[in-house]
Amino acid sequence: MSEQTLPTTAHAWHLDTRPAGRPTASNFSLREVDLPTPGAGQLLIANDYLSVDPYMRGRMSDKKSYIEPYDVDAPMDGPAVGRVLVSNAQGFAPGDYVVHVLGWRDYAILDAAGAQKVDPNLAPLPAYLGVLGVPGLTAYIGLERFAKIEEGDTVFVSGAAGAVGTQAGQIAKLKGAGLVIGSAGSDQKVKLLIEEYGYDVAFNYKNGPVAEQLAKAAPEGIDVFFDNVGGEHLEAAIGALKLHARIVLCGMVSQYNDEKVVGPRNLWNLSVTRSDILAFMVSEELDLQPDFVREVGGWLAEGRLRYRETVRDGLENTLDAFLAMMRGENVGKMIVKL
Ligand code: NAP
Repeated sequence: MSEQTLPTTAHAWHLDTRPAGRPTASNFSLREVDLPTPGAGQLLIANDYLSVDPYMRGRMSDKKSYIEPYDVDAPMDGPAVGRVLVSNAQGFAPGDYVVHVLGWRDYAILDAAGAQKVDPNLAPLPAYLGVLGVPGLTAYIGLERFAKIEEGDTVFVSGAAGAVGTQAGQIAKLKGAGLVIGSAGSDQKVKLLIEEYGYDVAFNYKNGPVAEQLAKAAPEGIDVFFDNVGGEHLEAAIGALKLHARIVLCGMVSQYNDEKVVGPRNLWNLSVTRSDILAFMVSEELDLQPDFVREVGGWLAEGRLRYRETVRDGLENTLDAFLAMMRGENVGKMIVKL
């Protein structure tokens, strides 16, 4: 792109009002904003792929959390992959591809310190938002650092057909787990879990009580629960623990839209089984990134790890993609292609 044709405006999704319960289109707007000239040390980036993630629901609320809320009347942000159009920073040149956090928009200007170069010849660009991005890293960290899988462990993963869940089941197997069980919200997802993502047993949590379906899948109990969902799943898993089991609290997506949440009623079973609940945030465990790149990169190169994205087209459909992901309309990582 020549200097003359560089964009002077961008389009960015704004949070207009904080949602109560499930967000609706009325809480957001896509607005045109001025795009200043990039300053010293900055990059002008054309985004190619945007990520929509469950944690963004938390940022739409102003409840105290581990991350700052989105400001009302301001653009939202999130992971994105884009192409450098202008670089005023050492180490970056036009044509480079970068991962950064100014998503929910078509063009972005950011300090180069906030951009990480990625190689489109090593992996397709959307993979850097999924299997090689935060979701893949989250699954890896949860299992490697917290679940500490032992040979033959029975592992249960909730939200198993999502971006984190499709990787968690496969990584558990690669780390030596025995029986790996997944739950998801449709019969079609359940079929995919078994046929594509290496789960031994899977069930649709909408087809009956989770505790009953889990007891059938793992009559002797579970050693590890990798929880993406919370709520009924968490209580069911606590009730199914073997001795010295580990629950890895990755997320609680079933409750992100809820104003009031109910906790598990059977916490005493943690004492009975001398088990641990371990919570983590990927952002605090980044020292494992080199191991993740080596191990997961190796498995991908050897064809031992499968992944997929569900792709929606166009910036104007970013909000729909987010809402659809929260309703479970994705398999693997939900991505927006610009
Ligand atoms: P995802 O699983 O790809 O997408 C969200 C999924 O949530 C949907 O596909 C849907 O699948 C499921 N869902 C929605 N409502 C539900 C409900 N009421 N009950 C059960 N499942 C429901 O999202 P992801 O990016 O991989 O994230 C998965 C979890 O990991 C989230 O809880 C997220 O917050 C967490 N996370 C944590 C960290 C960390 O650092 N701790 C980092 C990244 C992500 P179904 O069709 O199966 O319902």
